[in-house]
Amino acid sequence: MTYHSLSRSETGRNSVGLSGLKLSGLAASPRELARQLSFTRREFLRRAAGVTLGGTLLGSGMLARAGIPQKKRKVVVITFGGGARDQETFAPEGQENIPNLMRELIPQSTFFTQVVNRGILGHYVATASLATGVYETINNFSALPPEHPTVFEYFRKDLKRPSSDAWVVAPSNGFNRIGESSHRSYGPGLGARVILPKHLLTAATSGGAADYEHLLRDNYETPFYTPELGGNEFALQQLEMLLKLSVDDFKKHARTLSSPDELSVYIARQLMRQLAPSLLWITMHDIDIAHAGAYSLYIDGIRRTDRLCADLWKTIQSEPEYAGNTTVFILPDFGRDSDDDSGGNGFQHHRTGDALSRTTWMMVLGAGVREGVVIDRALESTDLVPSIGSLLGFSPSLAQGRSLVELL
Ligand SMILES: [Zn+2]
Repeated sequence: MTYHSLSRSETGRNSVGLSGLKLSGLAASPRELARQLSFTRREFLRRAAGVTLGGTLLGSGMLARAGIPQKKRKVVVITFGGGARDQETFAPEGQENIPNLMRELIPQSTFFTQVVNRGILGHYVATASLATGVYETINNFSALPPEHPTVFEYFRKDLKRPSSDAWVVAPSNGFNRIGESSHRSYGPGLGARVILPKHLLTAATSGGAADYEHLLRDNYETPFYTPELGGNEFALQQLEMLLKLSVDDFKKHARTLSSPDELSVYIARQLMRQLAPSLLWITMHDIDIAHAGAYSLYIDGIRRTDRLCADLWKTIQSEPEYAGNTTVFILPDFGRDSDDDSGGNGFQHHRTGDALSRTTWMMVLGAGVREGVVIDRALESTDLVPSIGSLLGFSPSLAQGRSLVELL
């Protein structure tokens, strides 16, 4: 059954399916299209997961009232490079691909249905924008630091935290500069430590990595951009000293993993156990295999991401350093093109800049967060950093976004 016929019959007379988006799109502004998309998304969730629409504001101090001192609070951010469309996720025919999100995570979360990304839709620059709270304009295919201070720099400078307290686990070598900006008041020495699991694996296998090829693909957007990093000695030191993993154990375990994101989650878990950083950022990338054009691989990526998000949530619940004091943010960097835009090729890319590729979502769960609430109002990708600042107690003074009042 196609998405359009289902959305018509499932959402009924008073709601708008994506077919409605197309029809009204002739006259509607991108803002109106985003609003309609958010509305159908909320209807899908309400029907499937039974979550309610949250309209009331709680005022300040939820975490304080929960009795969690600021020093103990932790934040884990999980982003996906390359989002998925609603017809493969939240819509009735997509829900079988995200059983863990639908049944377990969404009912425990405050879910924002309308997160609009007004920046450049490339994964590195968009993730950098999420991390700075400013729409960055650096070249997506270059190993450049963000120009504005990152959330990691605000966190460490304002709260005087050591480098071991802020970490990024990133999907590809192109993300190696994301932990630290080029801003003159911040920058060198104040950022997050970045760990690149694929770089670790390459170092561990001394370049002879034929067994691990399925884990090592650098990115899915262009085969021509594969920046090489030096410093294999440092990579191996990370493994042995910081993660307390022997090279042999790491290689043995990696052989059992089926995807780059599984490797990232394995490393993130090790990081949580050994160093327990207060601010941990994990970027996943498997869904973006959609660029290769195979729908079944794109769906596999969505299913795997769904499972890995649930795995990370379970780890957070079971690790003593994290359980009960951690707030988790899960969001894609942006969406994908609609089937209807003549400038695109449907799920495969995110080239058109249409409302679907810009209107994504975010779920927040854990410490201090109301459960089973859906928020419809429009927010922006740049609101993430100020919201983390409010939770952890630092001031991201150069970020453009606003802290989410629904969380505080
Ligand atoms: Zn992509």
